[in-house]
Amino acid sequence: MTVNTEQKINIQPNTDGFLGNYGGQFIDENLKEEFKKITDAFLSLKDDAEFNKELDYLLRHYVGRPSALYYAKNLSSRYGAEIYLKREDLNHTGAHKINHSLGEALLAKKLGKKKIIAETGAGQHGVATATAAALMGLECDIYMGETDIQKEKPNVDKMKILGANVISVTSGKKSLKEAVDEAFSAYLKEYDNAIYAIGSVVGPHPFPMIVEHFQSVIGKEARKQFLELTGSLPDCLIACVGGGSNAIGLFDAFLEDKTVKIYGVEPLGKGTKIGENAASLTFGKDGVIHGFKCKLLQDENGNVANAYSIASGLDYPGVGPKHCYLQSIGRADYVTISDKEAVDAFFELSRTEGIIPALESSHAVAYAIKYAQNHPNEKILVNLSGRGDKDVDFIIETVRQ
Ligand SMILES: *Cc1c(COP(=O)(O)O)cnc(C)c1O
Repeated sequence: MTVNTEQKINIQPNTDGFLGNYGGQFIDENLKEEFKKITDAFLSLKDDAEFNKELDYLLRHYVGRPSALYYAKNLSSRYGAEIYLKREDLNHTGAHKINHSLGEALLAKKLGKKKIIAETGAGQHGVATATAAALMGLECDIYMGETDIQKEKPNVDKMKILGANVISVTSGKKSLKEAVDEAFSAYLKEYDNAIYAIGSVVGPHPFPMIVEHFQSVIGKEARKQFLELTGSLPDCLIACVGGGSNAIGLFDAFLEDKTVKIYGVEPLGKGTKIGENAASLTFGKDGVIHGFKCKLLQDENGNVANAYSIASGLDYPGVGPKHCYLQSIGRADYVTISDKEAVDAFFELSRTEGIIPALESSHAVAYAIKYAQNHPNEKILVNLSGRGDKDVDFIIETVRQ
């Protein structure tokens, strides 16, 4: 690692929304003024005592925070190191996404908005957003690719039960990328009345900063819990990276702790060729997607490439600007885990600890298992971003019994 020890690492974007070379605000001129309003409102509300009291109350009594920190004793004794799990899988709605969905919905209310517009891929962000909208009495439009709607029926049904409008997107590949495109153009037509609630630390400034802030509760809790439980800091952190929200939520609290090694785990899918994976930080080149600059999977002509992972929540061709920045300064390392390794870890955690992880989170578990075998004396903190209920049918039908 080539960290300059003088430098503060956990920086915020500059006024143009850049962290080093990444991020920014590549948007329609019409939106600039509205985005300035959202930025200013967020920056004042994030330090507002009443706003934080309201959010803290919901996180505690509605989401069930603080989420547990669990020492995975069986997994640890099998693989050598001490492996600890931050249990975001125990949150209401089953993953970390509710942390930022509630924050975004509360922000929408304070801004006087009546509606939330969001995109969803597998439906996890859609369900979390629809949940927060129901709670706050806001209208909710969720854009979802037609292909994903067919694949993810239980989540589509949940969104409908929660009162959201699910809008089927039929352009292009009929998947997540097109859903974001259409949700943005819908938002452009009604930003006076609505706010865009993005699903990860991606998109134009200030969205990555906002989502990161609401997810940083994970690391704040985990750092304190880890010190209480073990008397020391972890030797390393491991989290899966799709857009990067659960990972940055954990990492932020430890960025200045120079002894703590940081690993983000990207999906290698079926292989290293473009189109076979969704490992943007590993195989991507600098590019712009959905209003921000990041490491982006591109084909030989510089067009956005198709992303693939068995875990649909990791299936995005770009990645949050802060991860690109942390990689560029050498503070975090980004590694990969294949579909097969993730599925093996899915079963391994289920059968050693009685915890069925989401396929996304299984990527982090898989890397922890690999890492533990080479670092038997270390303490590893893994972010278990979500539970695997949503993946059970798929695993049984297509992978194995
Ligand atoms: C959506 C999702 C992810 C990926 O999103 P990030 O923004 O990279 O955290 C990871 N795990 C689970 C369980 C998810 O639902």
